Amino acid sequence: MAETNAQHAAYDSKIEGNIIFTRVDTAINWMRKNSLWPMPMGLACCAIELMGTGASRYDIARFGAEVMRFSPRQADVMIVAGTVTYKMALAVKRIWDQMPAPKWCIAMGACASSGGMYRSYAVLQGIDNLIPVDVYVSGCPPRPEALLEGLMKLQAKIDKESSALSHFKTEAPAEAAGVPA
Ligand code: SF4
Repeated sequence: MAETNAQHAAYDSKIEGNIIFTRVDTAINWMRKNSLWPMPMGLACCAIELMGTGASRYDIARFGAEVMRFSPRQADVMIVAGTVTYKMALAVKRIWDQMPAPKWCIAMGACASSGGMYRSYAVLQGIDNLIPVDVYVSGCPPRPEALLEGLMKLQAKIDKESSALSHFKTEAPAEAAGVPA
């Protein structure tokens, strides 16, 4: 038996049709990481670079992430691109809450990551004050290549998740975990 990846998959070329062996976690993660549907949360100038990332020159479809969705019900990765003012912050949080799990968040640019140069009374000092961020992309603004690198980092993170196990954990009745009813 030859192994294609010691950790993730193997195949047996002696069996007709080349049967591939893998793990449930690996299969789920492979599907998830290659079909991320972004919620483009464009709030300021970084959003222009986010739009540029969707252009043919950068071809975000190589990563299966070209399906930008403007309904939170259809998205699983929020890309926060721009300055998060307090006026908008709770709207961003509401949209995040409406996205079904599993979901991930990329903070694109200095403003979304830390408030950037706006150390002011009107600006939230990082979207991670409200929602969990998986990947931070530096820059003011980051170029599309930087966002794509952030996307690849998110894919690598998803690849290591225990998808099947966590699913069974949430599905299991509370008594099974020793929690009194
Ligand atoms: S990080 Fe820079 S480019 Fe991005 S929203 Fe803030 S000021 Fe604009």
